[in-house]
Amino acid sequence: MRAVDPVTGAVAPPLYLTTTYARDVNYQPKLAENYLRNGSPNLWQLEETMAALEKGVGALAFSSGMAAVATLLETVPQGAHVVSLATMYYGVRAWLQELERKGRITLSLVAPDGLAAAITAKTDLVWIETPVNPTWDVIDISAVAQAAHNSGAILVVDATCLGAVACNPLTLGADFVFHSATKYLNGHTDVLAGVLVAREASARWAEIKRLRTAVGNALAPFECWLLLRGLRTLHLRYMQAGRNAMAIARHFANHPKLHQVLYPGLASQNGHAIAKAQMAASFGGMMSLLVKTDFAGAQKFCVDLALFAPATSLGGVESLAEHRKTVEGPTSNLPDNLVRLSVGIENVDDLIADLEQALAKV
Ligand code: PLP
Repeated sequence: MRAVDPVTGAVAPPLYLTTTYARDVNYQPKLAENYLRNGSPNLWQLEETMAALEKGVGALAFSSGMAAVATLLETVPQGAHVVSLATMYYGVRAWLQELERKGRITLSLVAPDGLAAAITAKTDLVWIETPVNPTWDVIDISAVAQAAHNSGAILVVDATCLGAVACNPLTLGADFVFHSATKYLNGHTDVLAGVLVAREASARWAEIKRLRTAVGNALAPFECWLLLRGLRTLHLRYMQAGRNAMAIARHFANHPKLHQVLYPGLASQNGHAIAKAQMAASFGGMMSLLVKTDFAGAQKFCVDLALFAPATSLGGVESLAEHRKTVEGPTSNLPDNLVRLSVGIENVDDLIADLEQALAKV
């Protein structure tokens, strides 16, 4: 579909920064919504694009990934059971544990191969992430969707690291797909945003939208506009990051200073066979290194890198290295020596040389 502004012919979408829209001479609204908390033209453009990219019936954009997560989890009935992963993005896990502490939900956090067994007739929602952050094990979305649906539960997939390029979870049976759009979707490390996409219209989807309007955590127009700009190069960026990551994984797979490289594209990885089918387009740009060192040595490795920035987050055009245990804090269940790499789109020979020089100092 050609995206040209119908009023002016502008090829790049105009940015509407107004909070309110005047009514016409018959006191009728000109747009579907006329107040910013309810929606805006830039928000609708972004949401139409995301619904098409993830092959859903509709999308909702939020002021952060966690705002989207919290709003969706608000629709879990009081006291219902939620199944999720013991290792996953720690912010979502911590939020689920907080809901459990407050008595809002009961919670089972399990290993990927324990998901089906943990689902019971009381389970309302199954939340998974694939590849699992930051071990990059790959989970069979179709199999978990079937197990959830057999018990009357819904499946939500955190597809942040799939980038809407490697795979579309809704086509594999997931009910909702979630992205921290802060990462690959935007790709330029300058927007905080979250997106939910639904496979079908439902009372729950309507409730998520109602809550977002009531609370006012929709994404603001400028962030929507920036995100739309990032999406224009999403496929190119994701594919290049994946090619770079695959080359780095192969180069370092048997390195004497490493215990292991964790990457969905390596035959040694848990779920590699699933990844080959489920992530056919690309194994993505995320990997972790188990460095032959201790907690302090892993931190030092990150700062010894010159091209990789020692920073949190992922999915940008620039490569980042992060010692996850430092970020997750004392409750982290990760190894002391795990360094997560978000591989960017730079020249891969430069990235490999940078990792080699920092490993030489370990
Ligand atoms: N899910 C994953 C996999 C993430 O990496 C993050 C952020 O790091 C989030 C969710 C939370 O998103 P945000 O930081 O945009 O609120």
